[in-house]
Amino acid sequence: MSAPSMPPLPSDADLRRLVHFSAGDGRIWLSGQRMVLVHAAALHALRRELMGTLGRAQTRRLLLRAGYASGERDALLARQVRPDAPLLDVFAVGPQLHMLEGAVQVTPLAFEIDEAAGHFLGQFRWDHSWEAEAQVRDFGPQEEPACWMLLGYASGYTSAFFKRSVLFKEVQCAACGHDHCRIEGRFAEAWPDSEAMARDYDPDSVLVQLDELQSQVQTLRTQLQPADELGPLIGRSRAFEQTAALLRKAAATQVTVLLTGETGVGKERFARALHAMGTRADKPFVAINCAALPAELIESELFGAEKGAYTGAASARMGRFERAHGGTLMLDELGELPLPAQAKLLRVLQTGEIERLGGHEARRVDVRVVAATNVDLEQAVQEGRFRRDLLYRLNIYPIRIPPLRERADDIELLAMHLLQKYAVRHGKRLAGFTDRALLAMRAHAWPGNVRELENLIERGVILTPSDESVDADLLFPHITMQAGATVNARGALERTVAAPAHQAASLYDTLLHSGLSLEALEDTLIREAVARAGGNLSAAARALGLTRPQLSYRLSRLNERAQP
Ligand SMILES: [Zn+2]
Repeated sequence: MSAPSMPPLPSDADLRRLVHFSAGDGRIWLSGQRMVLVHAAALHALRRELMGTLGRAQTRRLLLRAGYASGERDALLARQVRPDAPLLDVFAVGPQLHMLEGAVQVTPLAFEIDEAAGHFLGQFRWDHSWEAEAQVRDFGPQEEPACWMLLGYASGYTSAFFKRSVLFKEVQCAACGHDHCRIEGRFAEAWPDSEAMARDYDPDSVLVQLDELQSQVQTLRTQLQPADELGPLIGRSRAFEQTAALLRKAAATQVTVLLTGETGVGKERFARALHAMGTRADKPFVAINCAALPAELIESELFGAEKGAYTGAASARMGRFERAHGGTLMLDELGELPLPAQAKLLRVLQTGEIERLGGHEARRVDVRVVAATNVDLEQAVQEGRFRRDLLYRLNIYPIRIPPLRERADDIELLAMHLLQKYAVRHGKRLAGFTDRALLAMRAHAWPGNVRELENLIERGVILTPSDESVDADLLFPHITMQAGATVNARGALERTVAAPAHQAASLYDTLLHSGLSLEALEDTLIREAVARAGGNLSAAARALGLTRPQLSYRLSRLNERAQP
């Protein structure tokens, strides 16, 4: 029976509103997390199989950890959903979500917290645990408690909630013949056997170690390390792998490489990776953007100038070719190079010698050229803007850097990497991305490629409150949640259209422009709902998310106000 000292749990209407059944596209959402409605029978079967193949101890640990992960995720919602509520009500989001998710009925028995003194005691009664039911059905009455996933949830939720390790014990279990289960949680250090308890959550099994080794090998294989401080180029998509393989082959040679690809795909970083993998890695990497310099300066920039070569050339200066001697010279946006400079570039590529502007001395330069362009050079040749002989000279080893939309399998990896980068830069700790944000990123066309992704994520990092997950609406403020359905307090499905913050803003604007008071707006909405429901008050109430008595009460007030 529930302890008389504990106040009742608050209404869970706010949590029910977080559930959206987007049946049209086969998804269920709990706020930004994708959920799956699974038959308990399927979980029973899975549990039985695990017990049969891995044994009880290993199954227990696996399920504890699985539960822990889902508890952690729900904890992210708690302070978001009830930011201003008393602590117990904020905490109750976990037990209440656990109920809403169908795991178990939770009744709080004790909740004591004094963080400064290092004291936490949480006692909860569990009824109707699906795990106790499953265990007894498959294996008969138990000697030991069996609600492992549920217990992991309690530990994961509470640890993430208080941001310090909290461990729960199941002190009695319905699987052992008790009427109900009971759990007790404390800060980890308060348990005498905390080390043994915490080991249950360590990912130290042979299976997990193997998996980690495998992913380390995978990481090494999929990284390209450019000679810059920005870290490795990341990818595991097929398109990325193919590009990386071409770059590795070119790096072992001195061949002139032509990098093509849309704006923002990171051509310079790929060029740096090529340089870093080759024999010239300890020599300079010099880049020049042919579009960023005026035509009259580009030649002296590339080839250098002697003193007095042109007005303002007060002293002799080296060009980029000379500075890149022994190393790599990247000519970015090569399609923008003026025709006279193209002729000189061709001669340098053919002879390996440069002549400074205003000079007569040929200087040998040993430079590996990497050209990059986002325009179709073949077409530029057709239009007379680019020399055909120069294109032939450069187009020996073309590598196309794929646009981000062809690298969908890399998006999560890149996004996580950028999230960490910007979280550090802006001094924030974030929990990652919601499932909805990851899906939205996969679906986006990314016309601005990696650069666009980088900008969106920096913005998302700045806008997302600490310890929360970056959600889709912060990355793509223009997207709206699709119409879906939610569960009302009686457990029935209701159609809803979610109203994100910006919709609320436009609704507010509309209200302002209409000149209606809030009261008049309410009256208008109620009349409209009743009219559309053909006078059926129950239907009108449902449409407005009210109970029938609530609607009747509002109607009577409305009629009173309408009396002359
Ligand atoms: Zn139990």
